[in-house]
Amino acid sequence: MFEIIKDQVQNIKKIVVVTGAGISQESGIPTFRGKDGLWRNHDAMKLATIDAFYDNPELVWTWYNERRANIFAAKPNPGHKAIAELEKYAQVSVLTQNIDGLHQKAGSTEVLELHGSIIKIKCSVCDYKEEITSEFSEIPPICKCGNILRPDVVWFGESLPQDVWQKAMILANQCDLMIIVGTSLVVSPANTLPIYAKQSHTTLIEINPEITEMSSEMDLVVRDTGANSLPELVSLFKQN
Ligand code: NAD
Repeated sequence: MFEIIKDQVQNIKKIVVVTGAGISQESGIPTFRGKDGLWRNHDAMKLATIDAFYDNPELVWTWYNERRANIFAAKPNPGHKAIAELEKYAQVSVLTQNIDGLHQKAGSTEVLELHGSIIKIKCSVCDYKEEITSEFSEIPPICKCGNILRPDVVWFGESLPQDVWQKAMILANQCDLMIIVGTSLVVSPANTLPIYAKQSHTTLIEINPEITEMSSEMDLVVRDTGANSLPELVSLFKQN
């Protein structure tokens, strides 16, 4: 499956893993797009934009509460665990579009959350932020400053946290291997990370059961799931 990098693994010191919703699909968390994706039944513009939030904060909060309950119950799958295990063999940075925290639960130590986290909330006006430890008795919850609290996630049309994004671009530029798992690569700017890596002649591997916008740019495409294929990649490092 990963034969083409077999002779290279000894020289791979820095790995960047770019992940999307697909890596968590086998943990029971639905993706947005692709087969059985959430956007087949929900309208993104009514749930994941700042305008939607101000139009109907109760609806948006209810949707996030349901997703959070599902995410809290989820466990890392062999794909997340294999990425964590790769740290035994190289410096590994995970640049994730996911908001579910499963890479951290699996043991990955450097995880950059490009799109925020579903377990965090922030004020829609002031600088207040906190981690959610229990459910709210009323939605939308209200900040001490009197304004509405919102999930600390990046919605469509919003900028990524700039410190996180700057660091992600640098890591993408400096790695020896980039593994891209479970992302449709349609959401910008996260979908530009493989381009930064390619500019520095990094080997690019895509793991995705379906074709993506950038499949033709990859050095290797594995048409399989993360949980099926990533443990095999780790065993290649083990053997060397
Ligand atoms: P996406 O939904 O656009 O695409 C998912 C991709 O994963 C598809 O290309 C699909 O073919 C692939 N896939 C499905 N099952 C897979 C598997 N088992 N193994 C490997 N690949 C598989 O996801 P995206 O590109 O991450 O979209 C971006 C947005 O979705 C992000 O902003 C992210 O915050 C949000 N999102 C996150 C979660 C999560 O945190 N788990 C869940 C849903 C959506």
